[in-house]
Amino acid sequence: MTKDKAKDSSLENDTELKPALPELGTVPCPVCKRRVTVFVTKTKRPWINCGFCSARIFYNGSRAIRRLQRQLKGTNK
Ligand SMILES: [Zn+2]
Repeated sequence: MTKDKAKDSSLENDTELKPALPELGTVPCPVCKRRVTVFVTKTKRPWINCGFCSARIFYNGSRAIRRLQRQLKGTNK
């Protein structure tokens, strides 16, 4: 039997994203357009896991995150 290889820290060297998201809420799923909850990984990357269409989207990079923040805030005002 083989041991599993522990593979952590593959992303460790990535640039850190300073602005942690102040508040997480819901955003429309890019695939099926339903509202889904935004999660944050240990490395502070937001991602969504759509329960409706099973899409899983990671927001890597400041641009994507900025867009996400706008969507989070821009509800209903
Ligand atoms: Zn979806």
